[in-house]
Amino acid sequence: MIKYEPTIGMEIHVELKTNSKMFCSCANDPDEIEPNKNICPVCMGHPGTLPVANKKAVEYVIKTGLALDCKIAEFSKFDRKNYFYPDLPKGYQISQYDKPLCENGNLMANDRKIRITRIHLEEDTGKLIHPKGADHSLVDLNRAGTPLMELVTEPEIKSSAEAKEFCRQFQLIVKYLGVSDADMEKGHMRCEVNISIKPEGQKEFGTKVEIKNLNSFRAVERSIEYEIKRQTEVLSDGGKIIQETRGWDANKQQTYSQRKKEEAHDYRYFPEPDLPPLDLTKKAGMFDVEKIKESIPEMPLHKKYRFINQYKITEENARIFSEDKELANYFEQVVSELRSWIKTKGIDRDILNRLTKLTANYTLTELQRLLYVNGKLVSNCKITPENFAEFITMIYEGKISSSGAQAMLEEMFATGGDPSNILDEKGLAQVSDEGEIEKIIDEVIKNNQKSVEDYKSGKEVALKFLVGQTMKESKGKANPQMAGEMLRKKLG
Ligand SMILES: [Zn+2]
Repeated sequence: MIKYEPTIGMEIHVELKTNSKMFCSCANDPDEIEPNKNICPVCMGHPGTLPVANKKAVEYVIKTGLALDCKIAEFSKFDRKNYFYPDLPKGYQISQYDKPLCENGNLMANDRKIRITRIHLEEDTGKLIHPKGADHSLVDLNRAGTPLMELVTEPEIKSSAEAKEFCRQFQLIVKYLGVSDADMEKGHMRCEVNISIKPEGQKEFGTKVEIKNLNSFRAVERSIEYEIKRQTEVLSDGGKIIQETRGWDANKQQTYSQRKKEEAHDYRYFPEPDLPPLDLTKKAGMFDVEKIKESIPEMPLHKKYRFINQYKITEENARIFSEDKELANYFEQVVSELRSWIKTKGIDRDILNRLTKLTANYTLTELQRLLYVNGKLVSNCKITPENFAEFITMIYEGKISSSGAQAMLEEMFATGGDPSNILDEKGLAQVSDEGEIEKIIDEVIKNNQKSVEDYKSGKEVALKFLVGQTMKESKGKANPQMAGEMLRKKLG
């Protein structure tokens, strides 16, 4: 049996979040539901109209390229890609052929560097609507002329999992950069996969198949797995792979043949005569690449490793923070508050580390749960970082029990109240008064003679039960550690 290995390349299209369209001043609003509302003679492709390139869109592509370590072109231009389709009124798409804005970058996916061939800018097409049962189709040109960024990788992705991770990371990065919402469900981000297989160790690539319009990470992963299996079966049976474009049927979880692949020359690319080339040199003064570079925020992978080193939190927690910029900012603000608090008490690194861990755990479990249920962004969260920090110190100092902590957080979340006020108002304080706890313990001992005997005869579990009873009697308010120690002392 010959063993085959896959060679995978990706092409990802992302709609850019500019105010206006790529070559006209129509609104770029992907949420517009009224058909043909944001259109004009330019994006409808009327003869005699002239396109004007959107500067912001070019800057967004440069920004993405810089974030992905690409070389930014000094000279770039637009080209016409000619083909006919009813959602493309001009009969050609303005794209970039041999002089893309960015080349030779890379992106880390699961600790492996995947090389990026190029990133270029083009325009999106309109949409065809097929009303149910009708004998005709409708055209909606709201999307026509939306700035579209296309990224192409080298064919060096080795598995479906790696392809999926690549897409995930790219999505995260464009969101971080603020250049696109990259919502796959809404079609802001669309993936295509090139895939071929070859006998293990062979240098020469097999015939590649392109899978188009993959609208979820799951579809990327599943379609690759399906193709590897299908192509392996064809070759094992002595057949040949046909170079073609295939679609993905999510219901059947299968790819299906759509059409034979076009070659670049079928599109008869030529330079767009209505748009001047882009001179990106400093001298020309059209674009300030240095300034764009300065506007790039910390990237997710960098954030992840910084959080591990700086805050000594787990890799998993750091990963979750790196994928939620707002929550990560919030966490950092809380830790900064805690640092000031610690300063007033004389700095102790160990204590700060423990408080930081506590903060990470509460932010990623309790707070995130509340935010998720209420669909609120952290920026709308009523709990100020200062109050959250105070809440953490209360837990640390044993002023509040763990069940009390949960109730307090819910109250803070609902009202934005101050934790010390809530502690008094709601009576959530943990009882650490020996006299008070002793009263409860005496009662518990009196009512649970059997367990007392068990403990005295060496059954350690019985003590746990008695502590549990003490907690129950105190309605969760007794300091459990103190209760345990006192019980142990009393029972000898
Ligand atoms: Zn327009």
